[in-house]
Amino acid sequence: MTDSQPAWPVPLRPELRSERPYGAPQLDVPILLNVNENPYQPSADVVSDIAAAVAAAATTLNRYPDRDFLALRADLAGYLRAESGVDLAAQNMWAANGSNEVMAHIFGAFGGPGRTALSFAPTYSMYAEYARDSHTDWMVGQRDGSFAIDPAVAARTITDVQPSIILLTSPNNPTGTALEPEVLRAVLAAAAKVRVDDAPAVVVVDEAYAEFRREGVPSALELLGDYPNLIVTRTMSKAFAAAGLRLGYAAADPRVVDCLQIVRLPYHLSAITQAAARAALRHQSELLSKVADLRAERDALVSWLRGRRLDGKPLTVADSDANFVYFGLFPDRHAVWQGLLDRGVLIREVGPDGWLRVSVGTPAETEAFKQALIEVAGI
Ligand code: PMP
Repeated sequence: MTDSQPAWPVPLRPELRSERPYGAPQLDVPILLNVNENPYQPSADVVSDIAAAVAAAATTLNRYPDRDFLALRADLAGYLRAESGVDLAAQNMWAANGSNEVMAHIFGAFGGPGRTALSFAPTYSMYAEYARDSHTDWMVGQRDGSFAIDPAVAARTITDVQPSIILLTSPNNPTGTALEPEVLRAVLAAAAKVRVDDAPAVVVVDEAYAEFRREGVPSALELLGDYPNLIVTRTMSKAFAAAGLRLGYAAADPRVVDCLQIVRLPYHLSAITQAAARAALRHQSELLSKVADLRAERDALVSWLRGRRLDGKPLTVADSDANFVYFGLFPDRHAVWQGLLDRGVLIREVGPDGWLRVSVGTPAETEAFKQALIEVAGI
């Protein structure tokens, strides 16, 4: 380097210089169980309906799309009304390119310099990045040994930290843990007493995997009517088997939705996305038809893993309300991950040391995973 060459050739923000883009390894292997996708492809009927809807939208591609996408928002409200029995209208709904982008809107509107977002670790690692990108301070409280949140600890932490955003994930990624209703109540009560610019904290419940929850586990949607500061996010990427579509959404008080609109980019949802999402929603019963199978497959996988022993001790397996299973504890989890990959099975090395996460696939994929794990880990 000469004196005339700057140390850094472009003015990347200093705090980003050591950062890497987020993402699991994208590898071309036969068995992909690493990003919690739904393994079932859409049927020929669904494909042709989506294609027809996209073709119709393409005839007016010279025009910008409907910026407020009210028809799609009405369809999403209709889906949630049917799924949860909660009375929601288009004005309660927001959507973006994946729930990741919805979350970025939430941070854009309610985070910012001098403010703090709070969550409970281990949890979805993207949250810290939304905080970083919106110049919001990031704080995590800890979950207990079974990955649950203690309501008293949560309430105390909220009082101490005075966050403007509290993020809860139910079921949690990577652990699969559903949020206990009393935890949500305690968090909402503590959030109501926070004062950031004279307002309470917003409480975001990320329900990306909610459709996979076990019988009797409630959705936070049921509390929306009582709490104008509650936001529930969902996605079409998981249960809907439409990860490639990039459509995530939120349900909230219309005043919250008005705030999110302020920070969205103009026309952020393309006409193609809107048309494809609406067509997919028309086929919701078919697209969601594998959810019951995946839940049964998940429960069977949890039982199977609990029956295996490593060095004489049973494997530790977290309860799961999602379409993935978190298990361990491996003295060298990377070696297990690599051994599975060498056998064509890609899973995820994520969260606390010793643990691995596997998505629930088709029965054949699960079988391949089990065989590979027996070989690699000697369980
Ligand atoms: N929330 C959680 C907890 C997730 O695990 C994911 C995806 N891995 C997302 C949100 C984002 O999903 P998408 O952007 O595909 O809607």
